[in-house]
Amino acid sequence: AKAQGRNNVQFFTAEMNAAAAERMELERDLHHAIAHQQLDVHYQPQVQAASGRVCGVEALLRWPHPTRGQVSPLKFIPIAEESGLIEALGAWVLRQACQQVAHWKSIGIHGVRMAVNLSAHQLRSRQLVDTVREAMHAHGVQAGELELEITESAVMKDPQAAIDTLQQLRDLGVHLAIDDFGTGYSSLAYLKLLPVDVLKIDRSFVKDIETDRNDAAICASILALAKSLGLKVVAEGVETAAQRDFLDSHGCDYLQGYFFAKPQPAALCAEQWRQAPAL
Ligand code: C2E
Ligand code: CA
Ligand code: CA
Ligand code: CA
Repeated sequence: AKAQGRNNVQFFTAEMNAAAAERMELERDLHHAIAHQQLDVHYQPQVQAASGRVCGVEALLRWPHPTRGQVSPLKFIPIAEESGLIEALGAWVLRQACQQVAHWKSIGIHGVRMAVNLSAHQLRSRQLVDTVREAMHAHGVQAGELELEITESAVMKDPQAAIDTLQQLRDLGVHLAIDDFGTGYSSLAYLKLLPVDVLKIDRSFVKDIETDRNDAAICASILALAKSLGLKVVAEGVETAAQRDFLDSHGCDYLQGYFFAKPQPAALCAEQWRQAPAL
C-alpha cells in the first residue's frame, strides 16, 4: 500500500507538471495573441421577453488559437487574471464593444444595449473608471448604452471599494448587472447597497427549470426579489420554449440563450436585425 501511495504521488506530480507546463504555454500564447490582435469579440443577443425583440447584446471574448482551436474564456480569463494581462485585455474588449455600438448606430441600428463582462481584477483596478470613460468618449457612447456585468464574488472581495467604483461608473451613465446571480456567497444586505440595475439569473438555475422544482422556485424567488428591489432581470442560458415561457410568465424582463441566438460575429447580428429590427 505504501509503494502504491508513492506511485500515486509521482503520478500526481507528473500530472501537475503537465498542467503547469500547459498553463505556461497558454500564458505565453495569450501574450502573443493580445499583441497580435488575434482575439475576437462575439456578441450574443438579449431579447425582451414580452416581445421577443432584440434589446441588447453581451460581448464575449473568443480566442481562436492557431493550433488548439477555440480556447474557452473559462480557461484563458483566469490565466489573464493571474498573469496581469487582464487589464489590457479588458480595456481592449471595452473599446471594441464601444466601437461596435458606434458602428451599429452609424448603419441605423439604435437602442442596442452593450453588456461587457468585468473581471474581479478589473473591478479592483484604479484605472477602471478612466478606461470606461475614455472608451465611451472615444466612440460617442451615450448614457444607457453600456452595461457592465460583475459577479457577486468580485464585489464581495472588498464590498466598500466595489460600491465606490460602481457608483462612479453609474455616474458615467453605465448600467450595472450582477452576473451569475445566486451562485456566489453574496449577502442580500449588500444587494441593497449596490448601485445595480440588473440581475442575471445564472444558467445553472435555468437549465432544469421545467423538471426541478427547486430550480423553478429559485428562479421565481429571484424574479420576485428583483421586482421588489426595482431591478430588471436577464435570464441566461435559455435553450427551450418552455424555459422562455416559464421565465416570461414569472415576469422576467430579458432572455439570453441558444434558443434565440448563440454568440456570433458582429456582422451576423447586424444581418439578423435587418430582418427583425431591434427596438
Ligand atoms: P458568462 O458571463 O456567464 O457568459 C455566459 C456564457 O454562457 C457564455 O460562455 C455563453 O456563450 C454561454 N451561453 C449563452 N447562452 C447559452 C445557452 O443557451 N446554453 C449554454 N450551454 N451556454 C450558453 P462563454 O462565451 O464560453 O464565456 C464563459 C465565461 O467567460 C463568461 O461567462 C465570462 O465569465 C467569461 N468571459 C467571456 N468573455 C469575457 C470578457 O470579455 N471579460 C471577462 N472578464 N470575462 C469574460
Ligand atoms: Ca456575463
Ligand atoms: Ca453568467
Ligand atoms: Ca458564468
